[in-house]
Amino acid sequence: MDYEAYLKTGDWHVHTNFTDGENTVSELCERAEELGIKLIAFTEHVRRNLDYDFNELLSEVDSARKQFNLKILVGCEAKVLDLDGNIDAPRKVIEKCDIILSGFHSFPEISKKEYLSTLENLIRNPDVDVWAHPTLYAKKRNIKLTSNEIENIINSCIRNQVLIEENIKYNLPQPEFLILAKQLGAKTVIGSDVHKVSELVKR
Ligand SMILES: [Zn+2]
Ligand SMILES: [Zn+2]
Repeated sequence: MDYEAYLKTGDWHVHTNFTDGENTVSELCERAEELGIKLIAFTEHVRRNLDYDFNELLSEVDSARKQFNLKILVGCEAKVLDLDGNIDAPRKVIEKCDIILSGFHSFPEISKKEYLSTLENLIRNPDVDVWAHPTLYAKKRNIKLTSNEIENIINSCIRNQVLIEENIKYNLPQPEFLILAKQLGAKTVIGSDVHKVSELVKR
């Protein structure tokens, strides 16, 4: 990836007022520049039936690129749709994204076995660049993962070149997971899951 130097110093998970964020692209860029954050990735929520114009987001990002001294990426955060690891994003949006985050949002109740295979399918999905808020679903559903299972997931991320997000909002994955990920050589990326300018913090 071209932006590897920024994995720990950028913010790779930012929402705007196009969806449930409070601020505009420009307000967020202004704050990032003030703080000295070098890269900001707008990873807006999408669905296959999109209720806003993704091209408008792209054009706001284009203007911001001219105005601010920042690396600015545009992408999306799409939820896992099914047990096959398909994601809830229209193909025409996927094609325009620099970066695609995916994770579990309001996914139906499934067994641990199904969770692990769905996750494996998601990680193998060639459209997915980053696994967002890792293990949030397991935590919410009280699914306990063994260290062997965690190791398998991490190795799958490495094999499929999927970045593991260090999600600041949910404080996930847990420290033991992250330590193992680093020992095994997985790449991790900082995502604050920003929904307003005050949540942007220089790392
Ligand atoms: Zn999310
Ligand atoms: Zn998010």
